[in-house]
Amino acid sequence: MSSKAKLFVVSAPSGCGKGTILAEVFKGKDVFYSVSCTTRTPREGEIDGVHYNFLTDAQFENMINNNEFLEHAGFVGKYYGTPKGPVVEKLEKGIDVILEIETQGAFQVKKAMPEAVLLFILPPSVKEIDRRLRKRGTETCDVIAKRVAEAKGEIEKACKYDYVIMNDALEDAVNDFNTVFESAKAENNVADKFKAGNKDIIKLIDEVLKNA
Ligand code: 5GP
Repeated sequence: MSSKAKLFVVSAPSGCGKGTILAEVFKGKDVFYSVSCTTRTPREGEIDGVHYNFLTDAQFENMINNNEFLEHAGFVGKYYGTPKGPVVEKLEKGIDVILEIETQGAFQVKKAMPEAVLLFILPPSVKEIDRRLRKRGTETCDVIAKRVAEAKGEIEKACKYDYVIMNDALEDAVNDFNTVFESAKAENNVADKFKAGNKDIIKLIDEVLKNA
């Protein structure tokens, strides 16, 4: 395996704008963006094999039994998982890999591959997540309520990540993400102010939770 290939694990609550940030950060970069499997229903415009591999429960459970996942988890009543084969193959070829997954899966990856870099994107507040999900309009009120409740639990776990940034203004979030990405690749300390153990970051997480 090339010593330079990195596995980046990015988590953020639903409606946090992570899709937009990731698209900006990795535009034109030679990275492999892992396509997850899920048993949830496709949203309008989502393409099977591009946004997700949309599976039945039986197909997903078959993959679990065959040990085909690097990690998998239940989220708001549906399965989500990262197929192991493509991730290992790209890393072996020296290509950086990006996983965009929730917290339970992120910790499974860290356990299996301790060299993985975990980044959490904070929303400005939990109220803002609720607002963005309602505006997006892709989920029912019931699912939105479950996702908002899930978001609080996820934010509480942000302190266990390697790095934490906030998506308050898109341009700043993209710049901060780039700083973390480049610093983790270069293995320098340029992004240390985004380290989860930093007291300013701990304060930031507390503030977001207080605004829940
Ligand atoms: P959504 O249904 O909004 O696409 O995703 C719901 C949550 O599942 C998000 O937090 C997303 O990051 C996470 N997720 C997507 N793919 C995976 C995966 O392969 N594994 C895990 N553990 N979570 C995933």
